[in-house]
Amino acid sequence: MQDFRYCPYCRTELVAQLQEGLLRQRCPGCQELFYKNSKPCAGALVVDDQGRLLLARRAIAPFKGQWDLPGGYLEDGEHPEAGALREVLEETGLNIRITGFGGIYMDTYGASGVATLNIFYEATVLGAIPEKLDAKDDVAELGWFAADALPLGDFSFENGKRAIADWRARSAR
Ligand SMILES: [Zn+2]
Repeated sequence: MQDFRYCPYCRTELVAQLQEGLLRQRCPGCQELFYKNSKPCAGALVVDDQGRLLLARRAIAPFKGQWDLPGGYLEDGEHPEAGALREVLEETGLNIRITGFGGIYMDTYGASGVATLNIFYEATVLGAIPEKLDAKDDVAELGWFAADALPLGDFSFENGKRAIADWRARSAR
């Protein structure tokens, strides 16, 4: 992720400073220190009553046209459980219930290389699942896939692939 060049509070040009072995940006004007963090994201491993996994084909870059787990960036102050519910609803129209924890996976997003911290939950659908799912938001298509028929050769992010691999290992026990 690109660094600030000027302080967003007082517009003074920032300087680099070594702190705790890490190079951080500091403002010589107001003394603000700028910490960098991975961006938090939340998503869900949603299964139907046959144990099939819900995947979403991406309608936008990066990885446009490739499969992904439903999910996205958290809003400011949002709990990751609430973020996972919101993202799945936005992308699929489905209300889900969280049934377990799906793990945390580090990754980067797109050409910017922004570091992401990806939190996954296991979930089921609340109520009846419609025959035909309605892809919304930044999703082009939705599909249910059996654990042994997942389109992993046509899959987007590494963090999702690792979350699915661990989910399959748990499901096989
Ligand atoms: Zn400043």
